[in-house]
Amino acid sequence: METGPKVIDGHSHIGAPPGWMNPDPFLRLLSDAGVGKAIVTRFLEDTLNSNKHVKKVLERHPERLIGCFWADPSEAEIEKKLKTGIKEWNFKMVKIHDGMHKFSEGEAVRVAEGCKELEVPLFAHLEDYSILDSILESLDLPVILAHLGTGVYQLHPAKVSKAVERAKTHENLRLDTSGTTYPLARKAAEEVGPEKLIFGSDAPHEHPGVALSMIEYLDLTPQEREMVCHKNLENILQK
Ligand SMILES: [Zn+2]
Repeated sequence: METGPKVIDGHSHIGAPPGWMNPDPFLRLLSDAGVGKAIVTRFLEDTLNSNKHVKKVLERHPERLIGCFWADPSEAEIEKKLKTGIKEWNFKMVKIHDGMHKFSEGEAVRVAEGCKELEVPLFAHLEDYSILDSILESLDLPVILAHLGTGVYQLHPAKVSKAVERAKTHENLRLDTSGTTYPLARKAAEEVGPEKLIFGSDAPHEHPGVALSMIEYLDLTPQEREMVCHKNLENILQK
């Protein structure tokens, strides 16, 4: 299995679900799985408190954790908030989730424009493909689509096909492997190729070691596994 300090979990959560406020057990999960670093967000409707919690944890563990700023695109002064998150709090990515917050296509594009300006990728958990398409078509920005575009553990090969189709035509789109099953990940790997996949676990909802073992069975070469497990993500993160 691909393990070691270079492996980055591209999708995980800190401070949630209840019982995971303390980052130590979360960091142990990563260590047990042989995962070096993780991109973290906190899952709360109250984005300010979520992001402040992540900021505090990042300050304690800058060598293991990379912050992802959870944005609600419908919030007032969202551009200013993104700037604070990226420039002052040192977050390296922005997340939007249309199951958590209700926002319009235009509001989502506004956040994507903020990411472009701040030179950070957008992590998009979007069930509404018209929002994703607007973002992909209106600007040149690296976007990672959560859960291969399926939602969490939803067994929809047709949704993976839609995500794959877009990842093939849009150079900027990558797919997160978390919250999915082996056959769907295999389908994505075969159809779009390892250069478009980013390893994620959605920890602590899943053990990162379990999620990582799925990558092992995708029949990738060692070089391709490195791409999925960290290189593809490193290529789009700020240095
Ligand atoms: Zn998640």
